[in-house]
Amino acid sequence: MPESDVLPAIPPAQSQESAIANLPENLAVIKLQHEGCMSLARAEPRNLVDIVANLKLQLVSFPEFAAIAIYNKPIGRGKNSCGNCGAEFNKDNDRKCANCQMVNVQVFDGHTVPAGKVEIKLGAMKFAEGLSIHAAEAIAEAYKYNAIDTTADNKDNQFATISATFVDLQTGRMRRSTKDVPKHFTYRDGNQGKISDDRFWGTVIPAKQSLLLREVILRSMPAGLKAELFKAAKDAQETALTDDQINSLVTLEKEKEKEYWKLMKKLHGGK
Ligand SMILES: [Zn+2]
Repeated sequence: MPESDVLPAIPPAQSQESAIANLPENLAVIKLQHEGCMSLARAEPRNLVDIVANLKLQLVSFPEFAAIAIYNKPIGRGKNSCGNCGAEFNKDNDRKCANCQMVNVQVFDGHTVPAGKVEIKLGAMKFAEGLSIHAAEAIAEAYKYNAIDTTADNKDNQFATISATFVDLQTGRMRRSTKDVPKHFTYRDGNQGKISDDRFWGTVIPAKQSLLLREVILRSMPAGLKAELFKAAKDAQETALTDDQINSLVTLEKEKEKEYWKLMKKLHGGK
């Protein structure tokens, strides 16, 4: 990884949940835009069983979706051990094992272990798994009657402030997270550099907004729904349906979709 890609850790987001009343101006706008939808939402109870069915359908119909519904990111290595005796070895490179006194070294590609030394056994890479932003967006879509919004504003020379908002139009509950994103990065030697404006606003900010939105959506969803989607995504990665099975499920879902849009049309006066 080039050093310019080493970004500093960002402090945890501050989340707040509040009733839809007393919203800041931009959120009041979200509420106004969806006023009609809210009254429809209240009349149409949300059916979690249907939502799970919808998500499962997406997973089996689109293997590409199943593949990206779960992220898998390395979170560091487990403990290293001595290449000779297997004792825990968490010293620097080229040091003696406290247990067997053998010198352990790290060996890089194209190099061999020097005579009289052993290669350190690096701990296994550990991975964190979770629902991805794509999964979060699919849940929000299937959940219906909700609005999502992200913002990015310049704060000062050091930071930009981003926000992500999820409004459940059925319950009127809102969740909003904000986060300051630093415009600098830290080199491995501890020195700091500035991220170019192009890269910061074009790449860093959208990526951070995506993560914040995922967090806000997923924190707003019932735990059972998330667990179902996670399990279904895992299963879908392992199995695939026949074309006939997919077609019959898609037809069923299209009917439901039609009903939904009929309601929406009625709500918006046939526009
Ligand atoms: Zn040893």
